[in-house]
Amino acid sequence: MPSLFKIPITRLSGVGPKKQKLFEKLKIHSIGDLIRFYPRTYEDWSEPYTIENAPDNTPCCVCARIDRAYPPAHIRGGMTLLKVGVCDEENYMTITFFNQQYVYDKLRDGGEFLFYGIVKRSGGHYEMTAPAVSDIGDACIHPIYQQTAGLTTKQIEAAVKQAIKMLPEKINDPLPQDIMNKYGLCPLDKALYSIHFPESLDEVERARRRFAFEEMLVLQLGLARLKGGSRKETACMKITRDYTEEFFSLLPFEPTGAQKRAVSQCIGDMTENVYPMNRLIQGDVGSGKTAVAAAVCYSAVKNGMQCAFMAPTEILAKQHFDSLSYLFEGMKINAALLTGSVTAAKKRLIYESLENGETDIVIGTHALISDNVKFRSLGLVITDEQHRFGVAQRAALISKGESPHIMVMSATPIPRTLALMIFGDLDLSVLDEMPPGRQKIDTYLIDSGKRFRAYGFLKKQIDNGNQCYIVCPLVEDNESDLKSAQEYIKLLAGTPLAGCRTALLHGKMKAKDKNEIMESFVSGKTDVLVSTTVIEVGVNVPNATIMMIENAERFGLSQLHQLRGRVGRGKDRSYCILVSDKQSDNTRQRLSVMCHTNNGFKIADEDLKLRGPGDFFGSRQHGLPELKIASMSDMDILESTQEAARRILDEDPGLELRKNRGLDFETKRLFDKAGGEQLQ
Ligand code: ADP
Ligand code: MG
Repeated sequence: MPSLFKIPITRLSGVGPKKQKLFEKLKIHSIGDLIRFYPRTYEDWSEPYTIENAPDNTPCCVCARIDRAYPPAHIRGGMTLLKVGVCDEENYMTITFFNQQYVYDKLRDGGEFLFYGIVKRSGGHYEMTAPAVSDIGDACIHPIYQQTAGLTTKQIEAAVKQAIKMLPEKINDPLPQDIMNKYGLCPLDKALYSIHFPESLDEVERARRRFAFEEMLVLQLGLARLKGGSRKETACMKITRDYTEEFFSLLPFEPTGAQKRAVSQCIGDMTENVYPMNRLIQGDVGSGKTAVAAAVCYSAVKNGMQCAFMAPTEILAKQHFDSLSYLFEGMKINAALLTGSVTAAKKRLIYESLENGETDIVIGTHALISDNVKFRSLGLVITDEQHRFGVAQRAALISKGESPHIMVMSATPIPRTLALMIFGDLDLSVLDEMPPGRQKIDTYLIDSGKRFRAYGFLKKQIDNGNQCYIVCPLVEDNESDLKSAQEYIKLLAGTPLAGCRTALLHGKMKAKDKNEIMESFVSGKTDVLVSTTVIEVGVNVPNATIMMIENAERFGLSQLHQLRGRVGRGKDRSYCILVSDKQSDNTRQRLSVMCHTNNGFKIADEDLKLRGPGDFFGSRQHGLPELKIASMSDMDILESTQEAARRILDEDPGLELRKNRGLDFETKRLFDKAGGEQLQ
């Protein structure tokens, strides 16, 4: 029997070239595609309601007897209004159809039928408009498929029914038996039947779990292969004694529970594992990632390792250096800052002290990758991922040690599920708790009519000695937009902000100019920084207390959150003003999320719900294939599949064993479809 994915859909009766085109619109080319085309939702006709018990405002199935058919009425626009009266033991209901003569003809002869729709109550009167109608023999759960013009869900259902009948007695299940047993999953044939033609919604859920598991497992395996296999056992430096308590006792503050958890997970990785640590620390802006890094560095250094900490820009490297120096105050740790602008003489000293092991921690930019940088015993590499280093750059730093432990820090609060999918076998620690006493940033949504008043408010902050950001959403590579930013600054002359010291920062500037503008803002020489989104790449100016964001509707919520995180970093109360003239409910609802919460993970979840995972990063830059059935809330399934993927790859890295052939096939299929990198 050839693969089901090779049998064309035209093999089904009733599917000719015309229908084939329509199926192809739904990306269904083969019988295999069709049986894997899962219903979008279900209509439960299995236990019909009485007219009286039908739930409010929810489509449901009602069983009733035809009482009478009213004469057709012709209304404007050539429409025909067709009405029937139906009843059950207790109640009477009128049902209206438009133009559906054939339904009407069927009903006018009388008898009992099932009606699927919303029962409306007005006074003691019941009504339904344009319900779906079926014979009472059809009391079951109906699958509802995504349809396309010319191809209805009913027609797809019929095609699936045929296709399922064509399946051989024993079909190849891509999931190995031992995996199914271990995770309590139902076999493919049963699951296929249940997902399309279930007898109960519980059955649907069992089938859905199995398919979601399969989908995520295949995804994990595919990602692991793209990255060159699962992690390898290697000799790496180990922590034999944990100095965390000592470090914490020397800190000027009490670490949060989340920080403690993250540190102990890292120390665990560096103590027990036969693999070097490979962990992502994810925490919202201000959640205290630096202290986590410092704690881990402390134990690493005390156990004889050197640490390298790489940041994407000079400003950030300097800031990390300052915060680490502050945290290490009074502890015997030698830290150095190595960036492009350090003098040659000083650089030479740093190179020397790294090579002979005097410097414990070096913090810097790409300058760390230079061939001159050699370590005596590099044991831990930390990168700040805000600006994503290229794989090659990170690899270059890592290669300066012998399988050093790796820690990546990210301030993008990606929902946990998505993070695990993208980062695959990277372990994840989430800092989901803020240090105490953080004040929330008061956020307001206004329209441009109130902009002038908002400028007045900005001016007040400046008069108090604070600074402001104004963000304009510009397409960086569009000349006319750039002009409009310069125009924008000119326009400020006619507002309460006239006379304030303003500067413009945009992505097309040379790095040197950008640095200058930024330095001048950091040192308080600029009052208002008008900028494109380049400031998203985290700088810390505690004196900036207000941010105004123009055309806020053009940003994703997570991006707005990142931007807003630039204020509220000092002791003063801080504000964010979102300016938008978009009146649609959707926009208002989206932006109002910002006014109601400061929790980055909540915002990310909302963003994900509203925009879907594909759009989460603005574009599909993560290159993930689309998920058909697994959802972002399937956290437990995702965790199980991570474990399963590891288990499978440990035993059979090439997926060559007979029992894993199905998985091998499916990973290739998934990633081929994604059009991404080809699997070997
Ligand atoms: P981010 O996660 O954005 O990198 P930082 O590590 O820069 O956050 O921490 C932000 C600020 O919070 C720093 O000034 C740091 O000293 C302080 N901080 C970190 N952890 C705590 C804590 N547990 N209690 C109080 N302040 C803390
Ligand atoms: Mg930080």
